[in-house]
Amino acid sequence: MSKAGKLIVVTGPSGVGKGTLVRLLLKRHPQLYLSISTTTRQPRPGEVEGQHYYFVSQDMFKQMVSANELLEWAEYAGNYYGTPRKPVEQHIKRGESVLLEIELEGARQIQQTFANALRIFILPPNMAELEQRIRRRGQDNQEAIARRLERAKAEIEAADEFDLQIFNDNLEDALVSLEAAIFTKQM
Ligand code: 5GP
Repeated sequence: MSKAGKLIVVTGPSGVGKGTLVRLLLKRHPQLYLSISTTTRQPRPGEVEGQHYYFVSQDMFKQMVSANELLEWAEYAGNYYGTPRKPVEQHIKRGESVLLEIELEGARQIQQTFANALRIFILPPNMAELEQRIRRRGQDNQEAIARRLERAKAEIEAADEFDLQIFNDNLEDALVSLEAAIFTKQM
């Protein structure tokens, strides 16, 4: 029987750069499969259905939760986000490694269901830098920025629940640390 793939969870506060890190990681290691989440958030300019997210209504999201179609889900800054179960399970069964880029509550749920998952937390160099990055991104209104910053503080306090913490001070250094964590854990 072939060996099951590994589940890798990447978590970190909004604005920490985990999306950029994950994109670079996938470019270098196309054998990794990135799970596409479902969300009730409105698409941002440039975001593509089925590529960045599956954008759904609140009703649709609730139906997916009731039908147990989500591996984990959470509410974040006024919207719902969740990981479709089937593709993740299929890729893992085929022996492929799967990446989830999700927030803290979802990462905690994964610990209950996939105890073997490798859970990595990305930290900002400091809070001032994180705030600047969120504001600079300019994709959210003032209220959303405030909510994201509140949530970021709470998430950072939980960083030591994770198997590994990586500071994203320098992108290349953070990427090398991420690769080392993933590829030395017997994939
Ligand atoms: P954004 O709105 O900036 O795309 O994402 C907001 C937060 O939701 C980020 O921390 C992101 O990692 C997280 N997120 C994205 N997809 C999922 C998901 O499927 N489940 C959970 N729990 N969080 C997610």
